[in-house]
Amino acid sequence: MIPFNIPYTTGKELQYIQKAIQSGHISGNGSYTKMCQEYFEARLGIRKALLTTSCTDALEMCALLLNIDKGDEVIVPSYTFVSSALAFVRQGAKIIFADSRGDHPGVDEDQIEQLISSKTKAIIIVHYAGVACDMDKIMSLSEKYHIPIVEDAAQSIDSFYVSKAGDRKALGSIGHLAAFSFHETKNIQCGEGGLLAINDLRFLPRAEIIWEKGTNRAKFFRGEVNKYGWVDTGSSFLPSEILAAFLWAQIEAMDSIQQRRKEIWNIYNRELLEWAAGINVKLPKITDNASNNAHMFYLICSDLEQRTSLIRHLKNHGIMAVFHYQSLHASEYYRSINKDRDLNNANYYSSCLLRLPLYFSLKEEDIWHIIDSLKAFS
Ligand SMILES: *Cc1c(COP(=O)(O)O)cnc(C)c1O
Repeated sequence: MIPFNIPYTTGKELQYIQKAIQSGHISGNGSYTKMCQEYFEARLGIRKALLTTSCTDALEMCALLLNIDKGDEVIVPSYTFVSSALAFVRQGAKIIFADSRGDHPGVDEDQIEQLISSKTKAIIIVHYAGVACDMDKIMSLSEKYHIPIVEDAAQSIDSFYVSKAGDRKALGSIGHLAAFSFHETKNIQCGEGGLLAINDLRFLPRAEIIWEKGTNRAKFFRGEVNKYGWVDTGSSFLPSEILAAFLWAQIEAMDSIQQRRKEIWNIYNRELLEWAAGINVKLPKITDNASNNAHMFYLICSDLEQRTSLIRHLKNHGIMAVFHYQSLHASEYYRSINKDRDLNNANYYSSCLLRLPLYFSLKEEDIWHIIDSLKAFS
């Protein structure tokens, strides 16, 4: 069976973990953590990066930094992972779900404005498959209504957006705050891991405190205060040096990982074009001004029935292809607290989207087996 994903390891992870252990600093915020953070700040143009133990944790930090409280509303796309909403629900927010675009599973930027009310405290956007939302539209809404933007950039490492003004910016460097994931299913990974990007530096002093259990430890180590103590809310959001050392090995290999993923993506895209058009299946769209980081290659079937038989067909050919999110607005948990209007495009992707295997070590012969097997489906 060709699996949907095999997490890639470079071979250097153990060596760096051993170094971390030998250094005697194994808890968080040591030299590997600092190396990773400085790397992402420089490469992605993030003002300040803090490693976290997951993207979910980074989103929870965002909810604390934005003082989300009972009665506040937070706008979140429905077609996303649970964490994009959960981090804010935990603080008591009411989630106002936004629908996807008709031509792309990402949020429909033109429908956000009508969801804004006097209670809206934040807008969360998700760059689905690492493909940028229209950040010019999103950031101008933010300015017009003075509402902060959080980018859920979990899938968006090394992906970019070209603004109307012509600036090429990394995803995760545009919103006030952003969250990345290094879960084993993402392009670069450390098992479980994440990163909080702070692009509006007003959030930085509190972020450092929230990151380290509500203490001003960071200030103490910079010599800015002569003792450290409990000054705010927070939790233990920072990963150990073991994880940061693992991640450093992945960072070193990032360019070759990305190059191979893009090659595989392009083979799929080129070879499946004609077949897909013939049976009314859509291939992924790269929206205007967005780049492609080859996080995902998906098909959009014409209906649930076609997707179900395609999954079965591929399984019979030894291939694991999997669908993706079930819209959050229609989830059991959300419907128990709130019965919203229905969101047709989110429902459409829930029923019709199918993801193909895409990982660094996917063998050439397997790629062609997947393509030939798809072509045998009509
Ligand atoms: C993977 C993912 C997450 C969760 O990331 P973790 O690091 O597992 O917490 C959140 N949002 C999106 C869009 C994701 O793809």
